[in-house]
Amino acid sequence: MTSLPMIQIASDAPIGSAPLRRAAMPPRHLADLDLPGRQAVIAELGEPAFRAKQISTHYFGRLVRDPERMTDLPAASRDRITEALLPNLLTPVREVACDDGATRKALWRLHDGALVESVLMGYPDRVTVCISSQAGCGMACPFCATGQAGLTRNLSTAEIVDQAVHLAGVAASGAVAGSPPRLSHVVFMGMGEPLANYSRVVAAVRRLCAPAPEGLGLSQRHVTVSTVGLVPAMRRLAEEGLSVTLALSLHAPDDELRDELVPVNQRWKVAEVLDAAWHYAERTGRRVSIEYAMIRDVNDQPWRADLLGRLLAGRLTHVNLIPLNPTPGSRWDASPKPVEREFVRRLRAAGVSTTVRDTRGRDIDGACGQLAAATVAP
Ligand code: SAH
Repeated sequence: MTSLPMIQIASDAPIGSAPLRRAAMPPRHLADLDLPGRQAVIAELGEPAFRAKQISTHYFGRLVRDPERMTDLPAASRDRITEALLPNLLTPVREVACDDGATRKALWRLHDGALVESVLMGYPDRVTVCISSQAGCGMACPFCATGQAGLTRNLSTAEIVDQAVHLAGVAASGAVAGSPPRLSHVVFMGMGEPLANYSRVVAAVRRLCAPAPEGLGLSQRHVTVSTVGLVPAMRRLAEEGLSVTLALSLHAPDDELRDELVPVNQRWKVAEVLDAAWHYAERTGRRVSIEYAMIRDVNDQPWRADLLGRLLAGRLTHVNLIPLNPTPGSRWDASPKPVEREFVRRLRAAGVSTTVRDTRGRDIDGACGQLAAATVAP
């Protein structure tokens, strides 16, 4: 294969091409704007500037979006301000829980009918949400459910942030038994390729990490951006002055196989994508996560573990092996446990820090690569 016929990019694309279609972006929301931007909107409404902080405190600080509960705002201002800055972006279609309530998947309908999913995962010491950056995905990885349906559109900054804010509210309500009530971690591992929606994703990261009331006040170190390996965007991200974790979905150490598993590899090869990862590690001091789905008899051979070990040895990195979640109609299955253990053993023998990811949410189709809201009948 020498061309990229299946890969679709909407905008902000490092691959130069015209947008596929006019995206139906949602109405403006306060999470699209920094605090001065919100103050400008407030001024246009003829309201005093401090109302920007008040409305931001409700949304980001108290996780309140219902105007009735904003009792520090005069009734007339409440409606005007919420109309201008807090339009409803995500309508819950369905929420399902599993793992004794510690994992919850939310399916949202966007203003134009597009569907996206997010997952909330509670652990004894932290609460993580996995959020989507696009409706659908254009990267066409054949083992990923989202990749099969193609790209619908980029999400706006606020549509991305609002997933985390909604689920932070669920956590704060005490719904996740045995976990802290405060959302602490966000991973961009839901639907979509975050770096193909670059500027909105970076703005979303800034909003998630800005202290309240400007943002949600998460630590940048607790945010992970996962990518198929869009090299120019990875290099650009290294210059943003952010200390978020970069996760690279490698899935194969050799170009022949990676060309198939991660089709964008036809454009940026393993050596190039790893160079960009090491550049990111150098610029930020952050350990890069290498994601590797273990697919039976496809990428799990001992020689591939050894090759991967040689490529990663001595680098600031950590390997996350993900047991493949078979997707409907897929010809692939997860590697058997003994094969997985041998793969781990060889990587560790090469001096590479390696763990196997737990598979939360499998029975609600909320696990890695199973988020395919477009195919779910609401
Ligand atoms: N587009 C980004 C984020 C998407 S999903 C990326 O590719 O990194 C997050 C991770 O789940 C990626 O590593 C992706 O390759 C992996 N994944 C997708 N489908 C999977 C499946 N069926 N089983 C296991 N992991 C999967």
